[in-house]
Amino acid sequence: AAPLVVAVSTSISAKKGLLIRNRANFEGARNLNAIVFDKTGTLTKGEFGVTDIVPVEGQREVDVLAYAASVEQNSEHPIATGIVQSAKEKEIRVDKVTDFESITGKGIQGKVNGKIVHVVSPKYVHNKQLEYDKELFNEMSEQGKTVVFVLVDEQLIGMIALADMVRETAKEAISTLKEQDIHSIMLTGDNKKVANWVADQLGIDEVYAEVLPDDKASQVKEIQQQGWKVAMTGDGVNDAPALATADLGIAIGAGTDVAMETADVVLVKSNPKDVVSLMDLSRKTYRKMV
Ligand code: ADP
Ligand code: MG
Repeated sequence: AAPLVVAVSTSISAKKGLLIRNRANFEGARNLNAIVFDKTGTLTKGEFGVTDIVPVEGQREVDVLAYAASVEQNSEHPIATGIVQSAKEKEIRVDKVTDFESITGKGIQGKVNGKIVHVVSPKYVHNKQLEYDKELFNEMSEQGKTVVFVLVDEQLIGMIALADMVRETAKEAISTLKEQDIHSIMLTGDNKKVANWVADQLGIDEVYAEVLPDDKASQVKEIQQQGWKVAMTGDGVNDAPALATADLGIAIGAGTDVAMETADVVLVKSNPKDVVSLMDLSRKTYRKMV
């Protein structure tokens, strides 16, 4: 049978909104000295709103949004939700899409009215060496906006900027961790400038940006090899391998089923401050036992 203190801590944790799925790893939570956070959906709300639509010369704003929204109908990414919502609000017609494909960590593509449409990251555009307004792109990124590029038949027709919102509770969590000498790290697929903007808002110690979904787990392993005892906090399907790799995998309750099934602990209330609570609880529970 489980020791009494553990049984008590189970009912305390349930009340606090901490769902403990792996006791052994939860016990180790008292020895963690670094926490890695996924950005979108974890440190931020993961609710993107379109702030700017910037057509290239000779193109129209409505077409940039219409093409993008048509393809994004098929994607579940928070960026997609923001773009589709914006088209709806502006009452812009979206067209049928065929041959939809997602390009992992870089964006999506599909066929609209016989044309190949891409909605992609800055990295994709760089790799294809396409020309764009770098000054405006930098300006928007430095304001913390995520910028995606819309291509029709490989020609750039415009940029769409979207803004997410930083979670106030994330800021409080990071500052408490700092008081406890716990190193905070952000891991994101998003652009460096956006990542740094969010990190500055929150007081995050270290940032790894432009990390492809498949590389998140190996990035966590590398952090462990630097000597850190590390928890990974994430919400998405992409985060699951990293959650499994970390010493403690923490899923945000509002996230995907895959993330929750992989995690050692689920934060039922989706509150990053509960990372602090769970470390406290681990310390209190297992200190009493020895
Ligand atoms: P995060 O780690 O912040 O959750 P992702 O790995 O999901 O980010 O995505 C990384 C980048 O890939 C995004 O910032 C965006 O540039 C691009 N991207 C991913 N999905 C889409 C999409 N549906 N539409 C446009 N761009 C996308
Ligand atoms: Mg995410």
